[in-house]
Amino acid sequence: MTDVRIGQGYDVHAFGDGDHVVLGGVRIAHDRGVLAHSDGDVVIHALCDALLGALALGDIGVHFPPSDDRWKDCDSREFLRHCAGLLNERGWRLGNADVTVVCERPKVAAHAPAMRANLAADLGVSVDAISVKATTSEKLGFTGRGEGLAATAVALLVRA
Ligand code: MG
Repeated sequence: MTDVRIGQGYDVHAFGDGDHVVLGGVRIAHDRGVLAHSDGDVVIHALCDALLGALALGDIGVHFPPSDDRWKDCDSREFLRHCAGLLNERGWRLGNADVTVVCERPKVAAHAPAMRANLAADLGVSVDAISVKATTSEKLGFTGRGEGLAATAVALLVRA
């Protein structure tokens, strides 16, 4: 076994009726909400998939099935803390993670520090181990048309 492992994750949610979105555990006012079984937090969902991918433990749908009412309207930070527990149990810790949010609106860059603080707290790492970036897709594709938002994440695990 090597002493590092890497994983990547990707998540999308469509916009629907609502007045806010939740990204990285931060509630951001918006003229749309997202359609989701949980709170639809693409930042945390992508990051969880990166962590689960690094552990080769399947994906977020396996661990938190939408068919299970336990996860209905769930705070996705619970998912993240669960993934942190899986890391610890297996003798890994997060080296660093890098997340990119893709959407035209809402503007998320100003919320990145609060997201980083939430993610770092849930994963038990320092804030400088967590990066949250944002980009638009230059009005191209579903994110460009404002139909939804997406996030990608990569995570590096090191031996605890
Ligand atoms: Mg999702």
